[in-house]
Amino acid sequence: MNHASKPASVCPVCRCDRATQYHQDQTVRLVRCASCGLKYQNPMPTLEALSALYASQEYYDGQYFPAQFAERKAMFAHRLAVLEPLTGGPGRVLEVGCGRGQFLEAALERGWKACGQEFAEETVEVLRGTVPAAELAHGVFPEECPFPDSSFDLVHLNHVLEHFFEPMEALSRVWGLLKPGGVLYCEVPRQSNLQNTLSNMLGRKDFAVHYMLEHLCYFEAASMTRALEGSGFAPLSIRIEGMGDPHRFVRGVHYTSPWTHLMALVVGGLKLQGPLGGGNLVAVARKKEAPR
Ligand SMILES: [Zn+2]
Repeated sequence: MNHASKPASVCPVCRCDRATQYHQDQTVRLVRCASCGLKYQNPMPTLEALSALYASQEYYDGQYFPAQFAERKAMFAHRLAVLEPLTGGPGRVLEVGCGRGQFLEAALERGWKACGQEFAEETVEVLRGTVPAAELAHGVFPEECPFPDSSFDLVHLNHVLEHFFEPMEALSRVWGLLKPGGVLYCEVPRQSNLQNTLSNMLGRKDFAVHYMLEHLCYFEAASMTRALEGSGFAPLSIRIEGMGDPHRFVRGVHYTSPWTHLMALVVGGLKLQGPLGGGNLVAVARKKEAPR
């Protein structure tokens, strides 16, 4: 990880040095890569600022609500059921960025050997109490990842890739951790200025999750494809999910008021996520067997 706040002179995905300003507010300034379309913070925040954020109990308590744990676990179980035909059934799975552990719980219950890495030791301590059967590690990924190469059938990155200063380094490490033919599930949020404008008009901060300090990159299908192919993966599917999908968080973390819930249902039902730029981008990819 590049630790200093630095003007990101090149795109973290394709290394193109041409970009135009896309968004600026009090928290972040985003530019859009002229080549792959990735939106990324420029300048990037400091590691110190992000470390303080991730180490705080409030960060996790503000994102994960015990009332939703059962729903989250059910969503992850459904996701695993979809992925298992690709991996040949339950095997060894690594989750980077485990939150409060509902994915690990779902994986263990389905017969997976589950491993997880979290940034902060404090978070791992919480997880040791709630999912003691999981093998857990803390530290910066990928530099401090203790798990051996070629040891996983599945790697689960759920709203994690957008947090890395260098997403290509993270994906390269994931490539190494996977067995030949192993599968990567990578989901990231999508945002747009239009979505934020609508949100502001409604006076709501929770329709659109606003640009956040810890979200360093915003992917679309083109930049995600480029990132995966550039790090040795063959994309199996890249699609938009989210608002309106019954298996997603329509009532969940991001849509907490009746108005935003209703709008999410309308947007999802009319399949407007594409033009509006909302929802999540879900990529499933397989490690290519041939060396890059
Ligand atoms: Zn780019």
